[in-house]
Amino acid sequence: MTATEKKQFYGILKTVADWAYGCPAPGFSLHTPDFSNCASSSEYSYGKTNTQSANVLESIAAKISTCTRCELCKTRTNTVPGTGVAMPAVLVIGEGPGADEDATGMPFVGKAGQLLDKMLAAISLSRTSNCFIANIVKCRPPGNRDPFPEEIDACFSFLAAQTTALKPTMILALGRVAVQSLLRTSDGIGKLRGQFHDYNGIPLMATYHPSALLRNEDLKRPAWEDLKKFRDKLVQLTPGYNKPFDAERI
Ligand code: URA
Repeated sequence: MTATEKKQFYGILKTVADWAYGCPAPGFSLHTPDFSNCASSSEYSYGKTNTQSANVLESIAAKISTCTRCELCKTRTNTVPGTGVAMPAVLVIGEGPGADEDATGMPFVGKAGQLLDKMLAAISLSRTSNCFIANIVKCRPPGNRDPFPEEIDACFSFLAAQTTALKPTMILALGRVAVQSLLRTSDGIGKLRGQFHDYNGIPLMATYHPSALLRNEDLKRPAWEDLKKFRDKLVQLTPGYNKPFDAERI
């Protein structure tokens, strides 16, 4: 192992240990794939460019910013359309903005967001290089209550349009509300997490929401098992993930 590889390896190990175990993680693979700058593998088949996708995303965000389809528009400070790269390997979907997100207009910027960034980093993902992070509802439910079904329904076409524009290789759904809304099921997160589901032809996995991990440390280990499984599938579906960076792919 070269000095640079060693440094990268220990950096990743520390990140994993920090959020998951408080000690080096069992079963942690030395061969951590590098997904940085890995755009979605589907981009060529659709002939879509990064700029086209970014333009569509901007126009969706503009529509969200003036949306009055449900009552949440009355109490919001900012809409939170989502953030990330325009042709991501992974679309990460949470439930809805909290207080920090409502104040800033950015998803997952509070404590749960900081943990989410660590979870993603542990499998070589990040919102700045290869993910897009969005929510089921784009405005904060007051008091951080669950969004009501009618609010989810009113907002859902925005997420559907974002997904079509983004064409992610895979989707990671965070928590019960996200996975139930996407799969239109009432099954619990304990049953749905850790396995692959199909969302309009895109492999989707659910895991525990980072807020749940902050409330209950015991969920960190199963969440880490989910993430490793997710990473392995992403490796399978991302041809050339470990090849040198190719500027034409982003
Ligand atoms: N929780 C979510 O589900 N989404 C956010 O953006 C922040 C916290």
